Amino acid sequence: MAGKEFNAFEMAQAQFDKVANILNLDEGTRELLRNPLREYHFSIPITMDDGTKKVYKGFRVQHNDSRGPAKGGIRFHPQETVDTVKALATWMTWKCAVVDIPLGGGKGGVICDPHNLSMREQEQICRGWVRQMAKNVGPINDVPAPDVMTNGQHMLWMLDEYETISGGKNPGFITGKPVGMGGSLGRTEATGYGVIYTVREALKDMNIKIEDTTASVQGFGNVSQYAIQLFSQLGGKVICVSSWDQNDQTSYSFKKLEGVNLDELRKITDKFGGIDKAKAKEAGYEVLDGGAWIEQEVNILIPAALENQINSKTVLKIKDSVKIIAEGANGPTTPEADKVIFEKGIWVIPDFLANAGGVTCSYFEQVQCNMNYFWEKDEVLGKLDLKMTSAYSAVSELARKKKLYMRDAAYLIAIQRVAQACKDRGWV
Ligand code: NAD
Repeated sequence: MAGKEFNAFEMAQAQFDKVANILNLDEGTRELLRNPLREYHFSIPITMDDGTKKVYKGFRVQHNDSRGPAKGGIRFHPQETVDTVKALATWMTWKCAVVDIPLGGGKGGVICDPHNLSMREQEQICRGWVRQMAKNVGPINDVPAPDVMTNGQHMLWMLDEYETISGGKNPGFITGKPVGMGGSLGRTEATGYGVIYTVREALKDMNIKIEDTTASVQGFGNVSQYAIQLFSQLGGKVICVSSWDQNDQTSYSFKKLEGVNLDELRKITDKFGGIDKAKAKEAGYEVLDGGAWIEQEVNILIPAALENQINSKTVLKIKDSVKIIAEGANGPTTPEADKVIFEKGIWVIPDFLANAGGVTCSYFEQVQCNMNYFWEKDEVLGKLDLKMTSAYSAVSELARKKKLYMRDAAYLIAIQRVAQACKDRGWV
């Protein structure tokens, strides 16, 4: 679309339209699912540290709650737009549906830049957001969580404000809280481990032993590190990882043919997931350009950094040895690249299935909070494994049976489940 800015919500609608056509959905259901059920825009007035007043713009979008309370993060970002929030809320609906957890899709945001705000000012924004939304969110209708530039501390301030307004302890109002303050054990590992649970199942289907496989990973943050941890524990070997270098403002890939050493790399990684290239060299890593991770002679590629990384150009660099692409990141593959991947016969585990471990564990956090009884880490991860494995099996079975691309099969299942719930409730 020359001359037109990329609009995430238009992309989310286009993806939906494609599957709605395959499913032959009726007009009413299409109209309902193409758009959010509810969209809130509000102002958050704040007293800044210097005594001046400032008003921030906040949003919450509840795309669909036919299968349960809406679920989704709240982002703080200077370039936040309501269309991005609408797209993300829509994708949350499909993500919760594909892993079959009883939640809908939501997302929220505030146009602000936390880099330029003191902790007190951020606290005021969190509390102000809740004051505006308290009547329309909560454990039985919409459960927020952290997202870009928000964390456990922001969630605790929001919870505190909600409990002050509602007059009681209500930890199931929000997830992503610190462990000991209503958070769940296993949440840190959940997304990366979830990616590998699906990879393990895909390899089983292909009759390939994980011990005989190698992988290359883009990114070295939360998702990547725990994916590497479990993959290595199961016997696989990661030979290349890449990360962003804050000083050089570019990315590098780090290669070790005998396998990267996770503990060693963690020691030389900054808090943003950037690996120190001088120290990596000393530790025997070959330092390559940032794009090299995708052109390695491996069996599995795990993009776990950013969107649009596997595109019409980079897809051509993928070696024939690659059998699986497991999308840890959100939106790492463009539609043009999808076509090439499909033709090459590479098995894709699409983002909203592969990285659904995070939201699944957030759901477990909510369940534990509602019971006021917290599980051991093994129990959390065991339940996560079951959910991810059965979600993966349902999608891969459908893809094989109907000879569909995995992404389309995942969308088909998710949209069908939500459409059915809307129908059963008599909405359409
Ligand atoms: P993170 O901030 O912890 O790590 C991001 C990593 O990517 C860092 O190592 C950074 O150096 C690297 N990176 C950034 N730009 C890069 C580039 N151009 N080339 C190579 N590496 C680069 O983030 P995260 O939580 O691991 O999230 C990664 C992706 O997974 C995002 O797309 C996120 O939306 C998605 N995701 C995360 C979760 C979760 O629970 N953390 C859940 C679902 C989806």
